[in-house]
This record gives sequence, C-alpha cells and structure tokens, in this order.
Amino acid sequence: MDHFTLIDGELHCEAVPLARIAAEVGTPVYVYSAATLRRHARAFRDGLKPAGRVHVAYAIKANPNIAVLNVLAREGYGADVVSGGELARALAAGMAAQDVVFSGVGKTRAELTKGLEAGIGQFNIELEEEGVVLAQLAAATGRTARAVLRVNPDVDAGTHAKISTGKRENKFGVPIDEAAAIFARLAGLDGLDLRGVAIHIGSQLLDLAPLETAYTRIGALVAELRAAGHTITHVDLGGGLGVNYKAGDVPPDLADFGAMVARVTKDWDVTLMFEPGRVIAGNAGVLMTEVIWVKPGVTNPYVIVDAAMNDLARPALYDAWHDFAAVRPNGARMTANIAGPVCETGDTFARDREIDAVRSGDLAIFRTAGAYGATMASTYNSRPLVPEVLVDGDRYAVVADRIAAETILAAERVPDWL
Ligand SMILES: *Cc1c(COP(=O)(O)O)cnc(C)c1O
Repeated sequence: MDHFTLIDGELHCEAVPLARIAAEVGTPVYVYSAATLRRHARAFRDGLKPAGRVHVAYAIKANPNIAVLNVLAREGYGADVVSGGELARALAAGMAAQDVVFSGVGKTRAELTKGLEAGIGQFNIELEEEGVVLAQLAAATGRTARAVLRVNPDVDAGTHAKISTGKRENKFGVPIDEAAAIFARLAGLDGLDLRGVAIHIGSQLLDLAPLETAYTRIGALVAELRAAGHTITHVDLGGGLGVNYKAGDVPPDLADFGAMVARVTKDWDVTLMFEPGRVIAGNAGVLMTEVIWVKPGVTNPYVIVDAAMNDLARPALYDAWHDFAAVRPNGARMTANIAGPVCETGDTFARDREIDAVRSGDLAIFRTAGAYGATMASTYNSRPLVPEVLVDGDRYAVVADRIAAETILAAERVPDWL
C-alpha cells in the first residue's frame, strides 16, 4: 500500500502532483512519501504486537537518506547499520546510539572503535576473530561491548542468489553446528557482553516458510546455549520481508508474520530484534523519469527514458521488475522495451512489456523504488547523481541534491608531473 495515486487523471505523491516536482526539480528524481513510510513503520510494529518484547532497527542500507531516517526515528525506530558511514547517518538523523545495531561481515577495527565510542546498543558478530578483536578493543578502553553472535542457519531463503545470505556457503555468520562452541569461547572474554544470537537469511522473501525454518533452528540453538549455562536475553531475527514489485507478487501479510513469530518464539523469553529494510521503504518511493525518445525496435519500440542503470541498478543487478506508469496516462497502452541512455545493453528496465502509451516528453515513474534505489546510484557514464525529494501531505522538499557531473569532475585532478 502506498500513496502514489491518480487524482483527476494525474499521478500524485500524497497531495503533490508529480508533474510539479518534475517541473521544479527536473528528472530523473526519486520521490518518497512520508505517509507511506509511517504507514509501513506502524504496520510492521503492529503486526509484531503478539510477539511481546520487540526492538525494531530499520536496515539503513535500504534507504539511508537522512530525511527518511528522520521520519523513522520519529516513529521510534532504531537503526541497523553496516558501515561507519551508516552509523554516522543514524546518529545524525537523531537515532539514539543505544538503538543502533551494527551488522556486517567486514567491520574494520576503526569501525568497531567508532561503534564503541558512540556507545551503540549492539554489535552483531560475524566470525570468532571479530568477537575477539571487539572484546580487546572494548577492554582496552574500559568498555563493555553488547553483542550477539550471527549464526548462519543454512536455510535457502528462496530468493535471488545475490540477496540470499543464510545458506552455508554464503559469507555471513558462523555455521550453526559450530555456533555453540564459538559462543562459549567468546562468552568468557573481558569487554564482551555476549547476550544472544542473530540471523538474517536474505532479502525480498515472499514466503514465510524459510523464515520459520530459520527461526526454529535458532530457537533450538538458544535452548542449547541455555542448557550450557549461558544467559540469553536477545535474539535478532533480521529482516528480509518482501514487497510487491509486480501484479501477482503476494508479499507476506504482516499479521501472519507476527503470528508466526509469536508461535515460534513463545517460550524463548527474550527481547526479539528485527531489522526490516525493504518492507519499510520499498513502496514508499518511485523513480520519476522523462521519456526522451520512442525509438523503433525489431519487434517492439524502445522507450528511451532519462533514468538509467546508474540511477536504479536493481534491474541490471538482479533482473528486477519495477512497474512503469505514465504520470498523465491517456488510457492507451503499448508494448515496448524500456531502456536508459547508458551505453550498455544491461541498461534495460523492461522487455516486451505492456505499458501505458508514452511519447517523447512524457513523464513516467518506476514504482517501488524506495529501497535499494538511490542508495545504489552512481555517476557511471558521467551522469549526475540522482536527487531525492520527500513529500509529506501537500509539502515537499529536495532532501538530496542532484550532484552535477561538473561537481564530480571538479574533485578530480591531473597530477602536475604528468
Ligand atoms: C540487508 C540487511 C537487512 C535488511 O534486509 P531487507 O530485506 O531490506 O529487510 C537486515 N539485516 C541485515 C544484517 C542485512 O544485511
């Protein structure tokens, strides 16, 4: 559910006509709906009411814009960060350090130190050596790092291979059959308060079954750790819930998710932590673009738009689908390919797809681009860095500037010895 709807035949974001944003900010541009972010943040939390003590840390990597983080901070959300840069963003957006979880398989010593100095709520340790180093860094400065051990439960999330994270051969977490022994070795270290375990099996999950399997395995591990005398107070169940990118996608219902969590975890007696990203931000954003040309093709024409793979990488990266819609649809339809200006065949958003009929100069949107969209943008082909706009009711603001190709060029230099 989102707030990008037709009003009097014209697409709006909440009460703001998208054409007005295009006229004032230009295209391509990401447009986010604050009301949609809030709705999703509340729906996720409400769904988990039956599950008892819950802490929600929004996975910043999905959409790290500081205004987006600000909306979610006001909803009481903490942050799941995966780099020192994301940690700085979370704090700058007003999220409390104690509500920050630091995940990621390659945290550097400098980043661990940054987290310790900020006093973050939890480190999710991905390998034994990281836990040892974190304990040393903490103990050396008289601190105690609150931490959980990320476990790889060896579950196939049934999603795209590039965003599966919970299979044994993936780089994340410690193998579940070694987890108890590693936990025991780390739990005794000075400087470390190892209080639980974590999992995150992948992203864009449309089926609850793999999550239930993973949660059940982690529940058995919690029982095993307790039987060995460890105190377990926190279990981080990660993120991963999918969203509907196209008609026919049926993402998990949040009430069903909450009921499943409540059922599987009912005897755990822990604080449950969640790290949702896509399910909060995905449907809250669109990428607006202008049609440059409609070029004849072999079977179907190419709609060449001014957005490209450097602005929205998901189709090129994951063969992802984003619905395409005209901002002022005239009712006619056409079958076309949709592509950007970048000089790669991979810069194709859709092939042989039935879409709203568009012509040169028309505005259109790619829907469900609020997560893993602008944050993956680059300046490939020396294109500007795409700007972002946040709408709230009848107001809107540019929340990230378009960074001109000239500005990026100005940061480069030819050495004087050349
Ligand atoms: C990416 C990631 C998330 C968020 O995943 P979504 O599919 O966007 O919900 C949560 N936790 C960790 C550790 C991640 O790497």
